[in-house]
Amino acid sequence: MKDFIKILNIKLLSCALAVFLLIVLLCTSALSIFTVRKTVQQPAAKKVSVNITNNSSENNIDINSFLNAKINLSLKSDISGFSLEYTAVPHSTEYEIFRKIKDEKGFTLIGTTRTNKFSDKTTITGNTYIYKVRAVIKQKEGQLYSGYSNNVRKKFVWFDKNKKMVALTFDDGPGKYTKAVLNCLDKYDVHATFFVLGSQVKKYKSAIKKSDLLGCEIGSHTFDHVYLTGLSKKEIKKQINKTDKSIKALIGHGATLVRPPYGSVNTRVKKTVKKPIITWNVDTRDWATLSASKTYKNVMNCVSDGDIILMHDIHKSTKNAVLKIIPALKKKGYQIVTVSELAEYKKTKLKNGEVYREIK
Ligand code: ZN
Repeated sequence: MKDFIKILNIKLLSCALAVFLLIVLLCTSALSIFTVRKTVQQPAAKKVSVNITNNSSENNIDINSFLNAKINLSLKSDISGFSLEYTAVPHSTEYEIFRKIKDEKGFTLIGTTRTNKFSDKTTITGNTYIYKVRAVIKQKEGQLYSGYSNNVRKKFVWFDKNKKMVALTFDDGPGKYTKAVLNCLDKYDVHATFFVLGSQVKKYKSAIKKSDLLGCEIGSHTFDHVYLTGLSKKEIKKQINKTDKSIKALIGHGATLVRPPYGSVNTRVKKTVKKPIITWNVDTRDWATLSASKTYKNVMNCVSDGDIILMHDIHKSTKNAVLKIIPALKKKGYQIVTVSELAEYKKTKLKNGEVYREIK
């Protein structure tokens, strides 16, 4: 009997061993299938780009220069939204446009286009948007992506072209009160034009960048605040170009407009500056009175649709006046826009070398 039990135990043990071996065998083969699949998948994924590389080299495409293409994105706001323009990348079949609203976590693909221009008409007033773009080569085998462009960030403000509007303009800055003026513009969703001195730009980089981010306009008030009428052509050009260069280093483009110091213009100046020349029709005389209440009254007592109002953001009194002028103008139904927006809404095409004191 004992022998029988012993034999039975041995049989049971060998049975269990067989089952165990079978399980191990099954597991190993399952794992190997999985591993095979995995290794099959990887070369398959690689094959896509290999194919593109092969096909592309047949078409003489330099893949590396595509992948490393430097895409420079710039953005302009207009009546319907933002217009994006970016570097055209050779051989790309399309461009992908990504956007996020400030404080959102990730970017969203909002559209594709075959050209190096895109118009986003879905912007909402008061929102700040961040954009980036990349180029794509799409082929049957798959697609190849370039790197992303620079990020461009801007606040969108919508204006009603049928309502009255004015342009607040600030000369001689940026200065230590510019930030407070900008915060007020931001709070009320309005724009202004800053005719900056090239010599001040480096000192107030963040003010220039913030102006641009808010959708304000940066004009040139020359580099050294000189009478342009007393200068030679060469000297005038130097004043304009030096200022443009310092602005461009911060916002990607130079001044869009010029306001000659003291409003002093002659034929030589008009022919040489190569930008629209903007003077004013409402002089607040803020620099002479240094009084917030007088500056406020000088605006509010005579303001009308299409005015270009002159102020200086380097005075504390002007800053204090602006904090009251902006809500007061809004209350009166005025939209506060940049000079270029005023021209756009009033359908006036600003011409280089021409002088505008108002845009009605
Ligand atoms: Zn000035």
